[in-house]
Amino acid sequence: MKPTTRLLSAVAHPVVRAWAPLARRGALTLVGWHRIGDADDGLTTRLEDFRRHLDVLDRWGATVLPLPEAHRRLVAGDLPERAVALTFDDGYASVLELAWPELVARGLPATLFAVSGYLDGRGRFPWDEKLPAGCDLARLVTGEQLLAAAGEGLDVGSHTVTHRWLPRLAEHEVADELTRSRAQLEDLLGRPVTSFAYPMGGWTPRIRDQVEAAGYEAAITCDRGRNRPGHDLVALRRAFAFDRPDDVRRQLDGAFTWVRPLEDRRRLQEPRW
Ligand SMILES: [Zn+2]
Repeated sequence: MKPTTRLLSAVAHPVVRAWAPLARRGALTLVGWHRIGDADDGLTTRLEDFRRHLDVLDRWGATVLPLPEAHRRLVAGDLPERAVALTFDDGYASVLELAWPELVARGLPATLFAVSGYLDGRGRFPWDEKLPAGCDLARLVTGEQLLAAAGEGLDVGSHTVTHRWLPRLAEHEVADELTRSRAQLEDLLGRPVTSFAYPMGGWTPRIRDQVEAAGYEAAITCDRGRNRPGHDLVALRRAFAFDRPDDVRRQLDGAFTWVRPLEDRRRLQEPRW
């Protein structure tokens, strides 16, 4: 997270909290993580920090819902107070090996967005090429692990086949990423895959329409903020939690919703490594 984003959200926090009871009525907050481990690389969360994040959710009084139920109830307008859904992008093995057992022990549901073409060691993210050979942080889940966790209640969504920056792709390539990833995951899991996360948060109105046309019921961006009733289900807002429990608290209280308009161009800028 950029220091300016953190600073602005911290400044806004007391004001936002004052009207939080009104603003959060019927709203859905999405929180995301990528992987668990010992690194300060902007992508990794230490297990002890992850536990602190869950403690923050607990103290805040969050009602953590499975994502499919959360988006159905957002549409129906009957979300409970302080509704939250938890998500993990990219499909790192550390999520299933370290975070998922912690969630199971606490009885909390979660969704993992998997890159279907990267299962079983078939791919590696470009930013992980910098890691030393054999570094365990970069290890991704196997199909077998994903299937086992799904059997324990993990919800699985699509994060495309190859995790490319969608705004750079031709329309037919985007369509292929959307439909083939879902088909591959459904084949593996034997159940419908209804949600999608935009790789690196890259989306445009055209891509959003393609996601809807591909049959996904919900799609998650990296646009920070909360989702009020009536929010576009195919462009849901979410904030990632990396280390500081304060960031989770600000997301829950809606402080990033206030900052978001300043970041609108971010979703159109392809990240570089
Ligand atoms: Zn991703």
